[in-house]
Amino acid sequence: MKEYARNARGEGRVVGLVPTMGALHEGHTALVKRARQECSRVIASVFVNPKQFGPTEDYKKYPRDLEKDAKTLGDVGVDALFAPDVADVYPDGFRTYVHVEGISERLEGRSRPGHFRGVSTVVLKLFEIVQPHFAYFGRKDAQQVRIIGEMAHDFNLDSEIVVCPVIREADGLALSSRNAYLNDAERKAATVLHRALAAVRNELSAGVRDAMQLQTVMRRIIEAEPLASVDYAEIVSADTFEPVMRVARPSYAVLAVHVGKTRLIDNLLIEPASPGSDEFLFQL
Ligand code: AMP
Repeated sequence: MKEYARNARGEGRVVGLVPTMGALHEGHTALVKRARQECSRVIASVFVNPKQFGPTEDYKKYPRDLEKDAKTLGDVGVDALFAPDVADVYPDGFRTYVHVEGISERLEGRSRPGHFRGVSTVVLKLFEIVQPHFAYFGRKDAQQVRIIGEMAHDFNLDSEIVVCPVIREADGLALSSRNAYLNDAERKAATVLHRALAAVRNELSAGVRDAMQLQTVMRRIIEAEPLASVDYAEIVSADTFEPVMRVARPSYAVLAVHVGKTRLIDNLLIEPASPGSDEFLFQL
């Protein structure tokens, strides 16, 4: 892959990288399509990264279907698929890790200790192997892409991070490989994340700015759903992911919710229409 990417760069190609863990869906193919528009060589990686799963998490049962993924990627116009083995990515004796301080300990990092260390480490490795001009990530994992952006900045990486919108089902559920774990009743209940975020958007449109009040709205909606339980429901700065008291600057409403045994995340991006404006734009 190093040689392939080096040759592409040598030919003057614009190289785009789409990192994934496979079990591909339209959220992933949307990243590829965006890369296809902006790059003349598009490389996708499929690697279920053991280092970003906690000891009690779903690493073993995470859905895997490389053959199907390869076909999906071919159909959507990927030039090369990078699907390394765990032993090649982490040979015996591997012991160097990347840790983006502070933000990695919040929210997802708090619920999943070591998760972002695993993510940052594997993404830095992918960036070193491919050295893409552009790398494509979904805003579905807003904290992840903020951490990767920080790493790219702090380490003077030459890859530009491109953040793409969240792709959803018709009823609002964000596409996720983990949605495959949901049974019929849980699948219905899983719309509660989108409903809670849409309620926050409505409250903000009606003039509510107090973060506690907005959090309460989210919690009430989730607590009313018997199959769901809140892990976190917060209003945070889009920069630091620390909680805010009032919504004034770019912020996220962020959610992690257990639906049955499946843990789902989602977010609403809240941005002032112009700097200092009290009018907001939303991206769900
Ligand atoms: P994953 O395979 O879950 O590690 O995700 C790989 C990439 O796809 C990450 O950048 C995710 O943020 C992105 N992604 C996953 N689901 C979605 C979605 N529903 N909409 C947009 N991007 C997504």
